Amino acid sequence: MPHRAVIALGSNMGNRDFYLRMALCLIGWEVGKVVQRSSVIETPSWGFDSDPFLNQVVVVETDLEPMALLDKLQEIERRLGRTEKSTVVDGKPVYHARTIDLDILDYDRMHLQNERLTLPHPHIAEREFVLAPLRELNIDLLA
Ligand code: AMP
Repeated sequence: MPHRAVIALGSNMGNRDFYLRMALCLIGWEVGKVVQRSSVIETPSWGFDSDPFLNQVVVVETDLEPMALLDKLQEIERRLGRTEKSTVVDGKPVYHARTIDLDILDYDRMHLQNERLTLPHPHIAEREFVLAPLRELNIDLLA
């Protein structure tokens, strides 16, 4: 039985539409079957002063286990030219513009926490750019 992962895509650098499309292609080829996808929306950047994002949420059926899924998504981010990660200064995250950001919002409703991965993603409730696409797909991760 494949697992069901909900993934958020975001881009706020360069040809944002191209990066979202490429990420979706690579996810379809290398992660699993994309069974639902929201519309692409444009939102102001959150947490830092930068260009607006294009955001999208997709649901994927995958055989990858959570850590392997995170590895694969981070590999896709690197291949699409993402260089900077968010860093922490004085205990606060400092964000950077990114060609592509891929976050795992949910994986089989699993609760997991280690130094690399928190499931479900901890900031879903406060990020309208994730909540709006989830509403469009009729997915309630806050229930
Ligand atoms: P960001 O730079 O905002 O994309 O944050 C990436 C960091 O968040 C990486 O170091 C990941 O290991 C970590 N992380 C923790 N939980 C998650 C998650 N559910 N999805 C994606 N990255 C996560």
